Amino acid sequence: MPIINRIADFADELTAWRRHIHQNPELGFEEHETQTFVAEKLEAMGMKVHRGLAGTGVVGSLTAGSGEGPSIGLRADMDALAMEEHGEHPHRSANPGKMHACGHDGHTTMLLGAAKYLSETQNFDGTVHFIFQPAEEGLGGGKKMIEDGLFDLFPVDEVYGMHNMPGIEVGGFAVAEGPMMAARDNFEIRVQGRGSHAAMPHQGVDPVVVGSNIVMALQTVTSRNLDPQQALVISVTQFHAGTTAFNIIPDEVTLRGTCRVFNGEIQKSLPERITRIIEGVAATYGATAELTYHRGYPATVNAGGPSEFCADVAREIAGENGKVDLAPLPSMGAEDFSYMLEEKPGCYIWAGNGGSAGLHHPEYDFNDELLTVGASYWSRLVERRLARAA
Ligand SMILES: [Zn+2]
Ligand SMILES: [Zn+2]
Repeated sequence: MPIINRIADFADELTAWRRHIHQNPELGFEEHETQTFVAEKLEAMGMKVHRGLAGTGVVGSLTAGSGEGPSIGLRADMDALAMEEHGEHPHRSANPGKMHACGHDGHTTMLLGAAKYLSETQNFDGTVHFIFQPAEEGLGGGKKMIEDGLFDLFPVDEVYGMHNMPGIEVGGFAVAEGPMMAARDNFEIRVQGRGSHAAMPHQGVDPVVVGSNIVMALQTVTSRNLDPQQALVISVTQFHAGTTAFNIIPDEVTLRGTCRVFNGEIQKSLPERITRIIEGVAATYGATAELTYHRGYPATVNAGGPSEFCADVAREIAGENGKVDLAPLPSMGAEDFSYMLEEKPGCYIWAGNGGSAGLHHPEYDFNDELLTVGASYWSRLVERRLARAA
């Protein structure tokens, strides 16, 4: 595959950086050492560096050529997950209960690799903002960076993201226009019944039976309310009721769960549809039910032009025998790069991590062979999108 030669020259250095970050994982909004590591590397490349957006965010800026070309943002995430690593390799996590199980150590390093190459070669006309964001895993660090003024301080015409993907060969990519990742909302439902002795259920209103009916009825939103061509998952993941006693029907039940969907209109309609179901089911049995709905990450949606362009860059990096999947099934997982894509046109691509364990698995490890592939992809993206006038 056509990795840029100069990037291949510093493959060992990138591997050392990636393993250092892997060994020292930090959770969302606590990426202080990672922030320092990234900022010092960018400064050593002679770049202007801003620290502190969303607390632990870093932005390095590089202008080349006439300085009047367009601006683009390239984004990597830096946070780890709260879990124990099971892998036995020498660079395994030194921080108990924390692990880079989603490959953000690799994302950070690939973007640093591109920054190193582009700051040396400067073969483009315009400005690149290298965006290192905290807290992708559930805490919305990308959103916080935007709220803290990311695109006011660093205006960009387009913004680009990349995530490694186990199961795709190293050197392969997957990218398409439209949704790549789902929106993710969470909900809580409180069912109020009336407790009683378990032997005399007629004296109360059993919220466990009502809650069970609600769990079943919610599945009809997907199966009976939605166009079968659309995708929606509603999963009830928690059902809390009762005490340790076997013989008490409790007063109330709490259900919690998550909704995943690609279409923004459907996402907007969910609270009303869920409310109608839970209130109707509860009323059938003489109970009441109340919904609390939390909107989470929006869907990650690629713009047409940028995704075609990225597919072309990916084809160049993948080379003759490499595979670029132009029609991947979108994932029902969620990703907070979506907030950046809501603000700016751009594209989010998957880069193959080979046959590693899956994302968020305790034996997962980022594949170091991907470092030069990803850094080459970023670099060619910049050189082509911000091409010097011939
Ligand atoms: Zn993750
Ligand atoms: Zn991730």
